[in-house]
Amino acid sequence: MLNVNLPPEKHVKVLGDQGWIGLIDMMGTEATIVNAARVSFGKIKQTMDDKDIELLKYLIENKHTSPLEHIVFTFSVHCPLFVRGQWHRHRTWSYNEISRRYTDFDLTFYVPSQLREQSKSNRQASVEGSSIKDSELKAQIDKHNKGSLDFYNYLISKGVCREQARGVLPQNMMVTFWATVDLSNLLHFLELRDHSHAQWEIREYGKAIKELIAPYLPNLAKYLKW
Ligand SMILES: Cc1cc2nc3c(=O)[nH]c(=O)nc-3n(C[C@H](O)[C@H](O)[C@H](O)COP(=O)(O)OP(=O)(O)OC[C@H]3O[C@@H](n4cnc5c(N)ncnc54)[C@H](O)[C@@H]3O)c2cc1C
Repeated sequence: MLNVNLPPEKHVKVLGDQGWIGLIDMMGTEATIVNAARVSFGKIKQTMDDKDIELLKYLIENKHTSPLEHIVFTFSVHCPLFVRGQWHRHRTWSYNEISRRYTDFDLTFYVPSQLREQSKSNRQASVEGSSIKDSELKAQIDKHNKGSLDFYNYLISKGVCREQARGVLPQNMMVTFWATVDLSNLLHFLELRDHSHAQWEIREYGKAIKELIAPYLPNLAKYLKW
């Protein structure tokens, strides 16, 4: 059996080498999109010609999204818990995640490579490109992460159940989940999450998704300037 905490063959590293996103499966091609758009004519084509590329652009530009729903991706995502929290707000995806009620192996924690400053004008955001020059802080975060794992293991050693002990693990805990989405809702996700208003960490996953799927959707990727 394969360990789900390990990246699948097709994957992109994210957040240095701390996270990753992998492509588990996909259904459909760009030809599927144009065929779906033209299904009312009762004919389908296997390859794309220039007219099809124009139609693909037209569909995207005019938010004619239903043909895009015939393309489906399943990703495996390894990310910090706080990124997962943001991701799972997207209700149009289907999710399954490793349960810490069942498992307590492979617990790892994110340590940011750069600590950004708090934005003064936007209470939600950080200052893009800023970097607090204090390596001691990162060492302290690492120590805090490890300390919480020690405390978790201590609670387990005292007989406390996993489902309660996990409460002491921090937002930096890395989690792994599978996520399935159609192309229309994926483009919506990318619009929101690979955007300057979104947190840097989830934006990195948005960029990685583009890198991962662009080879399968070359005309769309070119049109959207990925
Ligand atoms: C930069 C940023 C900051 C954010 N800050 C916060 C915050 O401070 N607090 C917070 O709570 N959330 C916050 N969010 C989350 C945000 O409010 C959305 O929940 C999240 O982006 C998912 O978007 P969505 O609902 O469009 O996506 P999905 O859930 O994937 O839905 C896609 C589309 O389907 C339709 N849809 C889905 N479900 C329904 C429904 N039940 N009824 C009607 N239409 C539906 C809508 O048209 C929706 O746009 C933030 C998001 C971003 C990108």
